[in-house]
Amino acid sequence: MSWLKVGGPAECLYIPYNLEDLSHFLSFLSPKININVFGRLSNVLIRDGGLSGVTILIPPNFLPINLLKGNQISAGAGILDKNLSYQAMCAELGGLEFLSSIPGSIGGAVAMNAGCYGKEIKDIILEGKFIDRKGKISVLTKNEIGFLYRGTKLSEGKILIEAIFQGQPSKKEKIRSLIEKINSGREISQPKGYATGGSTFKNPTE
Ligand SMILES: Cc1cc2nc3c(=O)[nH]c(=O)nc-3n(C[C@H](O)[C@H](O)[C@H](O)COP(=O)(O)OP(=O)(O)OC[C@H]3O[C@@H](n4cnc5c(N)ncnc54)[C@H](O)[C@@H]3O)c2cc1C
Repeated sequence: MSWLKVGGPAECLYIPYNLEDLSHFLSFLSPKININVFGRLSNVLIRDGGLSGVTILIPPNFLPINLLKGNQISAGAGILDKNLSYQAMCAELGGLEFLSSIPGSIGGAVAMNAGCYGKEIKDIILEGKFIDRKGKISVLTKNEIGFLYRGTKLSEGKILIEAIFQGQPSKKEKIRSLIEKINSGREISQPKGYATGGSTFKNPTE
């Protein structure tokens, strides 16, 4: 199940069909039960003993991608980063090209403040919509999410369900060539076709 294909089983795996399903599930889940939330599992190393409690896996079709006014684009938490980047390109929205080379979902990208090639989620996100353990939905701005280097200040138990990003008008061909440049740069620096963990080192700060 995980990107690195290691680790033990989940005690209980739940893949919500949609937001209503997840909300219903959470409202009936005992607060005593531990929950783990994942997207593509590309940033986790599962221990051999597996995962206790309920493991919630947000699937790609959980919530769709929508083009909004003002060059904004929203994406459900389960959407793969590369698919959002591709849809933004089709809509001639630049700024999301870096996502094309990160092998995770939007939920994981927001939780990790994922980034590469000089850009990270905090540079493009406007707000995130979250659901808590009781099924209550809240919208948090970029500042309220509190982005850190490869993380956020969010309290545990908040599950991202959707995020809105700000794109910049651009030409499809320009976006495509930037995506190709980013992906060929990665192919040169990281082995292709193997389940590697990607970059091992932290980016240096200024
Ligand atoms: C080959 C390779 C290359 C990589 N390159 C990069 C890179 O260039 N830049 C970079 O930043 N990262 C990179 N990564 C790491 C990883 O892909 C990113 O961190 C990615 O954003 C994780 O997304 P995911 O859906 O796989 O998250 P998961 O691994 O499923 O989860 C990661 C974390 O996010 C939390 N999470 C997931 N979904 C949600 C949600 N809906 N709500 C709340 N929390 C959630 C999980 O609880 C967990 O703590 C790379 C990984 C690999 C394997």
